[in-house]
Amino acid sequence: MSVLKSLATVWLSGCTGCHMSLLDCDETLLALPGKARIVYSPLADIKVFPENVDITLVEGAVATDADAALLHRVRKHTETLVAFGDCAVSGNITAMRNGLPNTAVLSRGYGAVGLEMGTVPEDGIPVLNETVLPVHRLVDVDVFLPSCPPSPAMICYVLDELLAGRTPQLNREQMRHG
Ligand code: SF4
Repeated sequence: MSVLKSLATVWLSGCTGCHMSLLDCDETLLALPGKARIVYSPLADIKVFPENVDITLVEGAVATDADAALLHRVRKHTETLVAFGDCAVSGNITAMRNGLPNTAVLSRGYGAVGLEMGTVPEDGIPVLNETVLPVHRLVDVDVFLPSCPPSPAMICYVLDELLAGRTPQLNREQMRHG
């Protein structure tokens, strides 16, 4: 009997759109239980990233210390790490705040939902790093899956290839950038 590969998905700082695209992988997702065990994901209620994970999709860029800590743990315990989407690959939209003061970024963000910074409890405010970085600036990446977001067809292809033990060969024409 073949052992199922373990699969994890992680989101760092992004918009979650890459995971929404993953959820559109209808047939591949339905077939997953026969090919892989999902051992960690923001879509599942598992609190700690486990050890010995075969494949991890990492969405989002590194914008906080918490992102960096999670990413280092993911790298330590993952065989094949996929930079999932343009924010993970290049920083993309998440990195558009680079060059702006963090206080201005936070004030603008909280202001957009009608909150003033002084009224938000300090432990509810994320501690932003000065510079947003793509995943490969902190850890080695095995597979780059660009686009904003990658299409369900691209995600299905990459998952199918990795679960079959092959290296995906991506076609530039399928990519769409944010
Ligand atoms: S790559 Fe695009 S869809 Fe994915 S998290 Fe970044 S902004 Fe969102």
